[in-house]
Amino acid sequence: MTQRRIDIVSSQEPPTCPRCRQEGLLLARVPYGWTNAGGAAVEGRNEVVLCAACDTNAPHAAPLIAWFHVRGTVEPDYSEEFLRLLAGWAEQVSVPPLDRQRLETEIEQWRRGRTVARRT
Ligand SMILES: [Zn+2]
Repeated sequence: MTQRRIDIVSSQEPPTCPRCRQEGLLLARVPYGWTNAGGAAVEGRNEVVLCAACDTNAPHAAPLIAWFHVRGTVEPDYSEEFLRLLAGWAEQVSVPPLDRQRLETEIEQWRRGRTVARRT
């Protein structure tokens, strides 16, 4: 297993939350990966926005949001505490429920594709 690396995407403009269209706190690229039903490794990166409004009740996002509130800044730093909170959050967002759903669909299709000849 390689170390999962989380990239913080920094820019002049604050990120826009894709859910509520408000300004987010942080934009990160979070790697995800799993082995699909065919045995191949599926890897990629998700861009995820930490949003104070949408994520406030998410158990793993709340400590990170609190960190930004305490600091009074949206500038991430790379202190041990920050990285620990970031990792805890990223771990939860690395495979969003939507992707999990899609993954199951793909497994289902793959199974069917193997047992039932596809009509062309
Ligand atoms: Zn939001």
